[in-house]
Amino acid sequence: MRYVGKLYRPPSEADALILQATIGCSWNHCTYCDMYRDKPDFRVRPLAESLEDLAHAGRELGPAVEKVFVADGDALVMDLAHWEPILDACRRLFPNLRRISCYATAVNVLAKSDADLRRLRELGLSLLYMGPESGDDATLRRIAKGSTAADHVEAARRARAAGLELSAIFLLGAGGVERSAEHARGSAALATAMDPHYLAALTLTVVPATPLATLAERGKFALPSVADLLGELRTFVDEARPTDALFRTNHASNYLPLGGRLPRDRARIVDVIDGALAGAVPLRPEHRRGL
Ligand code: SF4
Repeated sequence: MRYVGKLYRPPSEADALILQATIGCSWNHCTYCDMYRDKPDFRVRPLAESLEDLAHAGRELGPAVEKVFVADGDALVMDLAHWEPILDACRRLFPNLRRISCYATAVNVLAKSDADLRRLRELGLSLLYMGPESGDDATLRRIAKGSTAADHVEAARRARAAGLELSAIFLLGAGGVERSAEHARGSAALATAMDPHYLAALTLTVVPATPLATLAERGKFALPSVADLLGELRTFVDEARPTDALFRTNHASNYLPLGGRLPRDRARIVDVIDGALAGAVPLRPEHRRGL
């Protein structure tokens, strides 16, 4: 496989073959994100290169590949003319393939017709990772997410109607000190409305040289304290009511790795968070946190 720059994938795709069918992120404006700033010119890779990489992986790995993650930052943006041959090749080359997934923005989903989404599902794309980060529209504007909470609800509804599974990712601290409470409550409400199959919370890190870092230097953004970030997590877990979502905070950015199903395990998870807030449950040390 040939890769350009740094690669990112969700923790649950650690064992996936990564196909870099796009380079960068077609949006690339979120104030906190530096993942693709080394690739400012978003582009779809030539289809022939993606197919060559898949053919090579098929020869080398074939039956060992059970998952394919299509990178980079919002690969769903590709049109059907690119997706169809890629999905066809994956099914043909990897006989034990269980899932194909990618990151997607609300804009990417809403730009596709219902028929397109159904076609992608029929061809094997099965899981979209969407990161609204917040359900608070003021926070979404401030982090330049490019979509509202309502956009995310509609995108989730249309993706689920097409048979796609959804993983929704929220970002503790995204509202800063100023909108911490609204961010936590709004995110729980959005998680409920999106009703994803998987839910994840990450913790914001202010990365140097991002627009958010500039705002922080000018005193226009302040990250909540660790206790307040845990408070956001507590509110989120306590108030989110998806039908039945696998919930994880196993991303390296988090202070408290948790897992369970929501809402079924809500009381148990809230107890653990309360234990952490009381100092009885150890937190991940700062030096072991990552982006
Ligand atoms: S959509 Fe995702 S990858 Fe693109 S800038 Fe925002 S957070 Fe970064």
